[in-house]
Amino acid sequence: MTDRYLSSAEIRNRFLAHFEERGHTVVPSASLLLDDPNLLFVNAGMVPFKPYFLGQETPPFSRATSVQKCVRTLDIEEVGKTTRHGTFFQMNGNFSFGDYFKEGAVQYAWELITGDQASGGLGFNPDRIWVTVLPEDAEARDAWKRIAGLPDERIQPRGLKDNYWNMGVPGPGGPCSEIYIDRGPEFGPDGGPEADEDRFLEIWNLVFMQEELSAVRAKDDFDIAGPLPSKNIDTGMGLERVAYLLQGKNNLYEIDTVFPVIERAQELSGKKYGAPGSDAQVDDVRFRVVADHVRSSLMLIGDGVTPGNEGRGYVLRRLLRRAVRNMRLLGYQDPALPELLPVSRDRMGESYPELVTDWDRIAQVAFAEEEAFRKTLQAGTQIFDLAAGEVKQSGASTIPGDKAFALHDTYGFPIDLTLEMASEAGLSVDEQGFRQLMTEQRERAKADARAKKGQHADTGVYRGILDANGPTEWLAYETLETESRPLALLREGAAVDVLAAGEIGELVLDRTPFYAESGGQVADAGTIDFEGGTLEVLDVQRPVRGLVVHQVRVVDGELPASASLLHARVDPDWRTGARQAHSGTHIVHAALREVLGPTALQSGSYNRPGYLRLDFGWLSALNPDQVHEIEHVANNALRADLPVGWQYMTLSEARDWGALALFGETYDDQKVRVVEIGGPWSRELCGGTHVDHSSQVGTIVVTGEASVGSGNRRIEALTGVEGFSYLARERDVVSQLSTLLKTQPDDLVGRVSDLVDRLKQTEKEMEKIRLAQLLSGGAALAEGAEVVNGVRVVAQRLDGASGGDVRTLATDVRGRLAGDTPAVVVLIGAANGKASIVAALNDAAQARGLKAGDLVRAAAPFLDGKGGGKADLAQGGGADVSRIDEALAAVTAAVASA
Ligand code: ATP
Ligand code: MG
Repeated sequence: MTDRYLSSAEIRNRFLAHFEERGHTVVPSASLLLDDPNLLFVNAGMVPFKPYFLGQETPPFSRATSVQKCVRTLDIEEVGKTTRHGTFFQMNGNFSFGDYFKEGAVQYAWELITGDQASGGLGFNPDRIWVTVLPEDAEARDAWKRIAGLPDERIQPRGLKDNYWNMGVPGPGGPCSEIYIDRGPEFGPDGGPEADEDRFLEIWNLVFMQEELSAVRAKDDFDIAGPLPSKNIDTGMGLERVAYLLQGKNNLYEIDTVFPVIERAQELSGKKYGAPGSDAQVDDVRFRVVADHVRSSLMLIGDGVTPGNEGRGYVLRRLLRRAVRNMRLLGYQDPALPELLPVSRDRMGESYPELVTDWDRIAQVAFAEEEAFRKTLQAGTQIFDLAAGEVKQSGASTIPGDKAFALHDTYGFPIDLTLEMASEAGLSVDEQGFRQLMTEQRERAKADARAKKGQHADTGVYRGILDANGPTEWLAYETLETESRPLALLREGAAVDVLAAGEIGELVLDRTPFYAESGGQVADAGTIDFEGGTLEVLDVQRPVRGLVVHQVRVVDGELPASASLLHARVDPDWRTGARQAHSGTHIVHAALREVLGPTALQSGSYNRPGYLRLDFGWLSALNPDQVHEIEHVANNALRADLPVGWQYMTLSEARDWGALALFGETYDDQKVRVVEIGGPWSRELCGGTHVDHSSQVGTIVVTGEASVGSGNRRIEALTGVEGFSYLARERDVVSQLSTLLKTQPDDLVGRVSDLVDRLKQTEKEMEKIRLAQLLSGGAALAEGAEVVNGVRVVAQRLDGASGGDVRTLATDVRGRLAGDTPAVVVLIGAANGKASIVAALNDAAQARGLKAGDLVRAAAPFLDGKGGGKADLAQGGGADVSRIDEALAAVTAAVASA
């Protein structure tokens, strides 16, 4: 069908050159993690250009072309089963912003795909090309006839579902026209793309943005407000799909950038790709999954994703684990990624050199995940096999929910892995049962946590109160004060009639303005007045859903359970501080993501008035610049006075909205509350209390950044008045230091570092003097040598000298006692309650058979210590300085008897 093999790199280059020659600016690929609240990953070439298409920004060019990295997670199940879906792929695109339109797009596309290979084209046979158009798009149909000379029968009309493009939200929309290559009758029936999408392979989609949509309900259900003032072109050509055709392959897993991984996998597993037989076909799918997932993982890690349990991290984890598991299914049990990932790197590194320069980091992330997964697998697979065996033996075909749950709970088996393994074993899983157990466990865990917190022994009591009275009317979002009736009064878990002054108990009201601890925000503080007395609110919890319980202490008076009316009042300053801290937490989170990138995801948080901390997934320590930048972005957000708002929506609406669902939050079953600050800048699922405008947070002062466990960092900050006080204290310190050092604050650092330098210098000089002084005593010591048994012996105690000094002096004295007469120098220093002993012998003494080590050993017992060394020099130390004289005598005795 084509005249010659073109490599992926060649196709990419030809595409870019083709459009560059036609006045397009070449734009490099954006990161897969480009920040777009609606997308987990960039999934099309147009994504980086969205602001231009939406009219939010003016494009710096009217024509552009790119080869964009894309990941489509929805295609994960298709991989290896169809011929044309990769989880990672590259989209070649050309874009026109109010410049050329349908005719231009058709002409440029046609020239490239049918152009002679010798002159830079792709060389597809025009007779094999089919296109689809929207039935009502006569303009596109005409263009294909006139410019390309395509006959009517190869221009297939296709409806809105296939051939209309929109973003799923109000904004630009328009018809598409897709280009297909007929692979030949051996691949399927006649009848064009409408009949068979495997034989007729879609390679390129041209989108003609021409309408403004006012509402979008579905792909084929929307309202057109009118024509777009400026019409745009957005096209996407799948690089891997074109490569598979031009390389004469059967699918996109066999092309130059993917197949080498399959080849390596064949060597490792000893199995053959493409072998005959139906078992082999199953293996072939595994080979393709391995090759695809290894490449996608490589690209994701390359762009900064790390494996995790939600969002992007979870997609990566799934890809890596599926790759590893499929290798095992192919019969290869050893670590696979160290063998496969480098192969993929070598193929992709040509177009993405950062994969090579960043290799160490990428490898570390991937290999660690495989290690972790291998441990999980080892434990879980046996349990799974056992369970599967039991099910089969009993003649059933469903793995019970509790087994799946145990695998998850005890062995960390994700449910989709259990599902996959079950389906491989020809079994199904009671998913509903599994989910039910998961929900129960979550509830239990929450109740446990709450019970521990409020020392609630038994939730049964609360459940009873709830059943009798219904849920507490909870007014924390609306007001700080309520008139309330008491519904229950408890002490140590049991109902009481009265709570006396000083006693601590629990009070349930029909309505309350108090915020109960949740979502990282601590409970409100405040008071509850009753006739004749006051209660201090110590804690507020929700031990069972719907019921708010106040832990209170009677400040004065005596609270009867029958009190008629109480006045509950949240401390307004406390609440202001709490709102500041909670909004501050969201702002720091958003700032973090802005500075570090969207992979920095919160894993936990805590905030109380004036203080917040946030834990987030991140591998390395932040450098001071990053911390400053985060603080800067956060405070800019305060200055911008962003509006803070919240609304209820379903979880899926929230997800579509890009809201971040975070760890440990409790949500209502139906609707979740989404808090947003500055529109899409910060959207989080959250039940907390917040300021109305970001400026009300006052200030955010980052006070610390530290590690909390592997792959997790913690950032701490002060908000509002606390932030100001912290800065004021620092200013006081600075001003005191300035006064003390008689300098201006700006010169303080220079002044202190001068001082430190001078101090060091002085210490050095003093050390020199001390040494000189010490050594000056050497001559006197040498002169005082006594002769014992024909040996000159210096055995002396040195008060105030420690190890190094003793040694220096001992060798100095020995030097002075050189000559043919044997000489032994033994000095014992005593400093800070510790003894240091050094023995130094001249050559003649050694010739006499004396050994320095022996002498030290003779003295050591008196010093409660030990030591040793060579014949010429030995040293030791001990913890007892009271018997140094005996130690020295022992040395002399040893010399005398030698
Ligand atoms: P299909 O219907 O075949 O799944 P699509 O209609 O979803 O494709 P588009 O959204 O029109 O694809 O994307 C434009 C081009 O990107 C396609 O023509 C195709 O060449 C390529 N493409 C899309 N999805 C994939 C994928 N998963 N793997 C490889 N290439 C892809
Ligand atoms: Mg398409």
